[in-house]
Amino acid sequence: MTITLISYDPSNGERLGQVQTTAIEQIPELVKKATKVAGTWINLGLGERLSIIQQAYAKAEPRVNELAELLSREMGKDIQRSTGEVNGIVFGGPYIAKEASEAFQARRAGSGTTVEYRPLGVAAVISPWNYPLAMANNLIVPALVAGNTVVFKPSEETPLIADAFVKILHKVLPEGVLQIVHGDGEQGKALVQSDVNLIAFTGSQEAGKDIMARAAGGLKRLVMELGGNDPMIVLEDADIPAAARFAVASSFENAGQMCTATERIYVDGKVADRFEKLVTEVASRYKTGPWNMPGVNIGPIINIDQHTMIVDHIKDAEAKGARILLGGSRQPERYIEPTVIAGLTPEMVMENKETFGPVVAMSSYSTVEDAIERANNSVYGLGAIVFGQRDAQRVADQMEAGMVGINQGVGGGNAPWVGAKQSGFGFHGSPDGHRQFTQVRVMSS
Ligand code: NAD
Repeated sequence: MTITLISYDPSNGERLGQVQTTAIEQIPELVKKATKVAGTWINLGLGERLSIIQQAYAKAEPRVNELAELLSREMGKDIQRSTGEVNGIVFGGPYIAKEASEAFQARRAGSGTTVEYRPLGVAAVISPWNYPLAMANNLIVPALVAGNTVVFKPSEETPLIADAFVKILHKVLPEGVLQIVHGDGEQGKALVQSDVNLIAFTGSQEAGKDIMARAAGGLKRLVMELGGNDPMIVLEDADIPAAARFAVASSFENAGQMCTATERIYVDGKVADRFEKLVTEVASRYKTGPWNMPGVNIGPIINIDQHTMIVDHIKDAEAKGARILLGGSRQPERYIEPTVIAGLTPEMVMENKETFGPVVAMSSYSTVEDAIERANNSVYGLGAIVFGQRDAQRVADQMEAGMVGINQGVGGGNAPWVGAKQSGFGFHGSPDGHRQFTQVRVMSS
């Protein structure tokens, strides 16, 4: 019996297409095949693998527009953002591959001793829907360059775009080096429990914990980029208009469905009124709508469950006394209109959980120590932002996060993408991140 995984357009719920769901019993077979071809893939050597991967990515260059449209239709983000994401992987993939191949060069560690970066074997790559190509690509490329073979399970929300991209890579990659598994968490669990050597996962904290538990028996290697609940502190001497623009842009990016979206803002009480007014003014200029409507910068929410969760967070804040400056809990189907909330308190769900929607939630503070304590009072530790001048560095130094931005967003250059606390375990990006897809071997003679 063939079971299909249907993909829906999040802007109207219409059926977009379908793929064949991978039967759970088939997954160990796919992993066996990946193990079998791993030897040949390793023996090609680093230079040859790099060249093949770069040729495979070149096949996608003429198809950027087509891929971007499919990404928009399936995930909902506007066409400019999808084009940016597709360009990022088509042209950024070969760059990551080159950087990884340099990171995997053996290095001398004293006389007669060499440090080698060896493949681990079969890598399971499990990815989310919010950046369906970028998140997968960040894990697939270093895994392949290192000499691992990959079994890739994209999100059940975005199977079509993943399938289309993998089919392009298949035109060049040797058979069995990159295989795709379609399905939901059940297929993900089966893959984790199969005979894979590394699990590279980007997704929720909940799934991350389950993966870690299932991987424990085999002490499988893990790279996990998990959820966040990023705080932002606005100091008294901050450039308030710049901070307000940043707060809105970061809270609303990708309809708020971004792991490093700003989720909670602590603003100095002396400048809070001005900040709130500016945030509301900037937020009211944002426009929701489908991917192809001109001027839209907030697309639909990925599915009904996610929509309900965002509305519930807003309702909870309303019930506990928050001031709604824009939007609120009465929302249209499928979309969340730009929402601005003041008076966030530690009792509100929004303060403690990832809302993952286009909501600015803020609170004023009277001492910066209180703001730092609230910012850090979280199991999450992905990103954190500080806007200000004189004390900005001192405050930033106290942020419990893998990435901190002072008067700007997090990350940049060829730095790793890394979470602290329960936002990550291992990391990717940069030479250090690429090496997490390898087994270090020390050879002395
Ligand atoms: P999710 O955890 O529900 O699903 C992610 C993937 O894991 C999907 O392919 C899903 O089918 C699979 N899966 C679910 N349960 C599983 C299990 N028990 N075992 C194995 N696989 C399982 O996450 P999502 O809703 O797709 O994505 C949103 C989440 O991802 C948010 O929490 C967001 O913050 C996080 N995220 C983090 C980063 C980062 O870099 N830290 C980047 C993007 C998204």
